[in-house]
Amino acid sequence: MKEPGSVNHRIREGLSRIATVMRNEDWNRAKASGLNPTQLSILELLEGRGDGLTVKEIAANLGVSQPTATDSIAALERKELVTKNSDGADRRAVKVVMTPKGRSILAAKTGSSVGAAQDAVGALANAEQEELLVSLVKMIRHLQERDAIPIQRMCVSCRYFTPYAHSDAVRPHHCQFVDAAFGQRDLRIDCREHETADPTLRAATWNLFEKG
Ligand code: SF4
Repeated sequence: MKEPGSVNHRIREGLSRIATVMRNEDWNRAKASGLNPTQLSILELLEGRGDGLTVKEIAANLGVSQPTATDSIAALERKELVTKNSDGADRRAVKVVMTPKGRSILAAKTGSSVGAAQDAVGALANAEQEELLVSLVKMIRHLQERDAIPIQRMCVSCRYFTPYAHSDAVRPHHCQFVDAAFGQRDLRIDCREHETADPTLRAATWNLFEKG
């Protein structure tokens, strides 16, 4: 029997299988909205970002080239799902924002049925879900630290997050934005209220979070 590859390699293989299912689901969801997956991802990215994002920021967040992002944004503009806001002559400052029509397309999509990938997460025990969520937070942060992806709107990089502020084992963390305690399984991956902490605070917060 062939020796198994390293555990790192096999976990990557596993994530790749799940990503395939998610990509297929994205294709189907996008097609049902008359969009392609990149266009749908742009709408999802702009959700809750009232000030919009520049083309460069959109490209970085989606991991696509700027020309690809520009083409998809132009297609969304033609469908009147996004528009561009400019505050002057600086073209780099132009922000892409979602229109009310874009928001309604997204709301209809969000109301659609749960996919197989999310179903598979639902099949895990509560403790397994929590462990997986924390592992994902750690992996995403690792990718951020290596500039593989931009800083995501996760609690661990948010200026409102105080890890292990409470002795309550179920809800040890504190969100200063809503002034409430919350637990590991409530950690956000993409929070609208997120505000990026400065690098010093981010490092201190992460140290506290990791120590547990
Ligand atoms: S505002 Fe959002 S990201 Fe920030 S700590 Fe609260 S829940 Fe987490």
